[in-house]
Amino acid sequence: MKKTNISIFIPHAGCPHLCSFCDQKSISGAQKAPSAKEVADLLEKQAESLYERNIEAEIAFFGGSFTAIPCDYMTELLETASRAVKQFPAYTGIRCSTRPDCIDEEITGILKRFGVTAVELGAQSMSDEVLKANERGHTSDDVRKASELIKSAGIELGLQMMTGLYKDTPERSLETCREFIKIKPRTVRIYPTVILENTRLGELYKSGEYESFSFEETVELCAKMLEMFEENHISVIRMGLHASREVEEKMLGGVYHPSFREIAESRMFYNRLIELLEPLGKGKYTVFTDKRNISKAVGQKRENLRRLYEKGYDIRIKERSGAYLDIGEI
Ligand code: SF4
Repeated sequence: MKKTNISIFIPHAGCPHLCSFCDQKSISGAQKAPSAKEVADLLEKQAESLYERNIEAEIAFFGGSFTAIPCDYMTELLETASRAVKQFPAYTGIRCSTRPDCIDEEITGILKRFGVTAVELGAQSMSDEVLKANERGHTSDDVRKASELIKSAGIELGLQMMTGLYKDTPERSLETCREFIKIKPRTVRIYPTVILENTRLGELYKSGEYESFSFEETVELCAKMLEMFEENHISVIRMGLHASREVEEKMLGGVYHPSFREIAESRMFYNRLIELLEPLGKGKYTVFTDKRNISKAVGQKRENLRRLYEKGYDIRIKERSGAYLDIGEI
């Protein structure tokens, strides 16, 4: 059965900070926090359509710092979601995103009581220098402690990171990836920085003090991290911001592409092909791969095949069920 999230955005509500990159109103596209009644109506309406399309969904409170909103409001929303999970079979759980310094035992107790199944922490970086430069107001140690609390409460842990923040370097992003792997979250989201109007990063960018990573650098970096997470059985459930007209309108710089993940995945396949082909020497080869990998191996607009050809590898890709990248001579 297909799975999805019903996302409910709580824009900036309760957030004690203003991070350098954040303009939550643009990112969520929402202007005001929804009431419990509005959430209940939305969930009831969505349940019918999910049922008709045979789709299961988790109810996801995203956007701000869910566990930092006033406790009464948070429990009202959780009660509403928990009722919907009991009432409508289409809903399989509740997830939320929050800041690493807004988790303690009392909070995990509340989340558990209302049946929250997953918590995603906006860690953004495991470099304290990057966290400080971007006014996050928490440290990498807060990420480790909150992660432990979530996991020991029996709640699934997700971690979110950004690449190309102020004072970030590709090596620091890779270090964040390595630190995440040590923490062992179940899921990860990777967001290349998008520099928005009306943010601190926007000011730094306009003044010439800051420039994010280039598109090419970010694709290479994300391809590498995708591989590292995959090797450690950590699922990357999102890469890049969702396509949004508001973000496109307010974007000053940084990396944004509606198909960013596909581009990074293709690059990962290209890098693996090069690793496999180089020891064999230049020539003509057939690469067998499973149907689901074909477009990634070929690359967007056949870019991987073109680049390989320029390096002396004339490649044909053929489908073979269950194969990853099996090389044969033509
Ligand atoms: S913690 Fe999250 S919601 Fe708050 S300012 Fe930072 S990014 Fe925005």
